[in-house]
Amino acid sequence: METVTKGKKMLLGGKWLGREETITVYDPQDNTVITTVPKASKADMLRAIQAAEEGAKTAANMPVHERISVIQKAADYIARKSERYAEIIAREGSKTITEARKEVSRCITTLRVSAEEARRMNGETIAFDQMPGHENRVGYYYHFPVGIIAAITPFNDPLNLVAHKVGPAIASGNAIIVKPATLTPLSALLLAEAFDAAGLPSKILSVVTGSGSEIGDVLVMHPSIRMVSFTGGLETGERIARIAGLKKLSMELGSNSPVIVLKDADIDAAVSSCITGAFGAVGQNCLGVQRIFIEKEQFDSFVEKFVEQANQFKVGDKKDVTTDMGPLITEKEAIRVEEWVAEALEGEATLLAGGKRNRAFYSPTVLTDVPADAKIAKEEIFGPVVILFPVETLDEAIEKANHVNYGLQAGIFTKDIDLAFTAIKRLEVGGIMINDSSDYRIDAMPFGGVKGSGMGREGVRSTMQEMTEPKVVNFNLK
Ligand code: NAD
Repeated sequence: METVTKGKKMLLGGKWLGREETITVYDPQDNTVITTVPKASKADMLRAIQAAEEGAKTAANMPVHERISVIQKAADYIARKSERYAEIIAREGSKTITEARKEVSRCITTLRVSAEEARRMNGETIAFDQMPGHENRVGYYYHFPVGIIAAITPFNDPLNLVAHKVGPAIASGNAIIVKPATLTPLSALLLAEAFDAAGLPSKILSVVTGSGSEIGDVLVMHPSIRMVSFTGGLETGERIARIAGLKKLSMELGSNSPVIVLKDADIDAAVSSCITGAFGAVGQNCLGVQRIFIEKEQFDSFVEKFVEQANQFKVGDKKDVTTDMGPLITEKEAIRVEEWVAEALEGEATLLAGGKRNRAFYSPTVLTDVPADAKIAKEEIFGPVVILFPVETLDEAIEKANHVNYGLQAGIFTKDIDLAFTAIKRLEVGGIMINDSSDYRIDAMPFGGVKGSGMGREGVRSTMQEMTEPKVVNFNLK
């Protein structure tokens, strides 16, 4: 196995390949060059698809115990080298070393859960005799793999979100081609290295590095691809959905998640949960808390505590374990966030904390007096900016929370079970957390959104269901 020569190589159809044309990978903290990765061409992508056609047959015929063993070995490999994985996540992306270590540990869990779920991919017997005239039939259904999966992944969890597609794909007997985020391809290549070292038969997994807008269409439109599993922004997701044709689609898109804080809530718990939910991973988190609706009786107290903690959030060097927040993924993104905040402040918004940019770094920012229809309240900011809204009632909070084209997860803080159930029923989201912020997830729960936040569910078991189809078997015993 070879992964490093001048730059990194990509895993394409069972071979680690370099290309003359490369993409430079930078550390967003100081713009230093980390390395280069190959800039794959359309022909490279076609070659990966051709190899995957063979890989899909191998994958489908792999006994379940071999799938389990190879996934467990890949998880063991990552566990043995976890610090190297964490360093790469923290270097190529936005995360601090502490956040990166957590992501590595979650990736190992995602893979181990995938191995366990492979054991449980069972079907059911079918009671054909529920229909008169069908008394002498027995049968069942089982899950068969769809074939080749195209996995397109974002920059913000560059290892674990790739594992969320690769682990379940292998566990359910599919081949998979990963097109990782252009800005953070190294973690995905390290994941491929783990599967290669674990002895995954060649051609089941390819990780093809390159520009999404250049090689993405070839991948998603190809008739041999039976499912596109996409995690990324709404705009890219919509484009892929338009051109993909007749194949399965899983769309894990963005959000501007709401949290509701009612007057009976434990305010200290709500504040600390919303602080990490809003500013963790520099707010570049699909579950990130962006809008907080606070009942007016607690608004002033919440604002005071929230602003105090936001001001204490330490922004700085990602390598330092005392740092709470690193840079955004690029300076360009930090400038975009700065512009959105400036636009809000030119309107009616009031700045309560932050609002300062230094290169790619942007301070934890708190706004209020933002009209519900302002861009910063309706779109996904994907940065460390949170908006506080006072509300009169739970009804008003729910109405405003739903008044956007997103619906991934939401949180509500209350001790009143009836009010919690009202929110559970009426919030238009894929998951609602009671006494946790929207930013709560374990890797083994169904995960996904409604409206512009996407369709389909991840979370290993759910992903495996999406990556398979039921096949019905009927024996006529007459
Ligand atoms: P993005 O949409 O810009 O890019 C995602 C991926 O799509 C990248 O690999 C990119 O190269 C590729 N791509 C770009 N154009 C393409 C094309 N025309 N065809 C095929 N692929 C193409 O997203 P990003 O900036 O990397 O990530 C941030 C977004 O991801 C946010 O909106 C965030 O909320 C979302 N996200 C969602 C989840 C979730 O599980 N719901 C998780 C993490 C991130």
